[in-house]
Amino acid sequence: MIMAEPDVDYVAFFDKNKEIITQAGNFQNNLGLPASDDPKIVLTDRHRRIYNVSRPIYDDTRKVAGYIAAGFPTMSYHKALEDDKRNIVVTWGLALLTVLIASYFILGRIIRPLEKVKTAMMKIGDGDLTEIIPVSSRDEIGVIARECNAMAMKLAQTYHNLSDVNQKLTEINERKSEFLSTAAHDLRTPLTLIGGFAETLSNKNLNLSGAQKDKYLDIIASETKKMAKFISDYLDITKIENGMHLPVMAKINPEAVAREAAAEFDFESAKVIFAIRSEPAVAKVTADGEMLERVLRNLIDNALKYAPQNTAVTLEITRRGRDTVFSVSDSGMGIPDDLKEKIFEKFFSANRVNAPKKQGTGLGLAIVRSIVQLHGGTIHVEDNPPRGSRFVFTIPDIK
Ligand code: ADP
Repeated sequence: MIMAEPDVDYVAFFDKNKEIITQAGNFQNNLGLPASDDPKIVLTDRHRRIYNVSRPIYDDTRKVAGYIAAGFPTMSYHKALEDDKRNIVVTWGLALLTVLIASYFILGRIIRPLEKVKTAMMKIGDGDLTEIIPVSSRDEIGVIARECNAMAMKLAQTYHNLSDVNQKLTEINERKSEFLSTAAHDLRTPLTLIGGFAETLSNKNLNLSGAQKDKYLDIIASETKKMAKFISDYLDITKIENGMHLPVMAKINPEAVAREAAAEFDFESAKVIFAIRSEPAVAKVTADGEMLERVLRNLIDNALKYAPQNTAVTLEITRRGRDTVFSVSDSGMGIPDDLKEKIFEKFFSANRVNAPKKQGTGLGLAIVRSIVQLHGGTIHVEDNPPRGSRFVFTIPDIK
């Protein structure tokens, strides 16, 4: 404790009868000696408060020889105490302030980066994986921030991969549902017909004639064929779309492939005049022969469905730049402009007025387009004036 040295108001000596012998300072006789040894506060005539202390003085034989008294003004004690108190408050106040300022800077260095880490982690938790914590320090907090950034990047990569897988699964699921609903719809009619005619045939009570039985058996056979075609077409387009059926490229003679495709049809019974026209320049094309034959077969099949009797169906092969161009034209009912794109979509099978009864699976042109695209070519349909349509597709030369 810091104390200012107190002032002394007086010092007085007394004989053993307590009569004053001598004094220095402001001692006043009327104050007298204190009755006991206890210090006490007395009032001087000037109304000053004095702290009076007196003690006996002993001689060699331990007898009281006299007394000594000293007075201290209490003001100086109070002042000393006040000064002391102020000093303590100021000193502790300054110490506390220093500690607070130091803590603010030291904690700030730790807490601010931790706050950034916390904010980033909360954003990551909310799914925002693009959040990057700015890392500047090389201390433990810097290590935590770098680890968090690395973790967020890994999470983003995993999330990206999962999204891809999810997207694929969704597509597969959609295809499955699409197949199931289309299959249920498209297979119901043939199945009902097959079931109905099979039951009729097995009913012994009906006494069917041989001709009737043959007719019903024909219907069963053709409906079964239709179902088998639908399923095989569907599986084919799924394989092509999923990249499971890639073209086996070879240099082939397009005219020879066209003849093979046409050989499957009986143009005479259909009463259609079929012709293949090939430019002499088109000697070879690089393509998958079987796939190309399938494209031409589908297009000829469609043309025959729509071509009226005694009209022409023509297959032409020409060169245009680096492309070999194939076209199949008929003089049928043609295709309205608003359907010219749609007919290439899967399961699109327009139920149009005056359309031939022999409706297909709605997959024929979708397969055709997929195969042409696999070869890097394009396909479209245009009008074939004065009547009918012309399907035109290209097979580009391989660079
Ligand atoms: P579908 O099994 O119904 O024949 P496609 O994919 O082969 O399926 O053809 C889709 C639709 O395109 C047909 O339903 C028909 O409306 C139309 N179409 C295709 N070829 C021709 C053509 N040569 N003339 C007129 N319409 C055609």
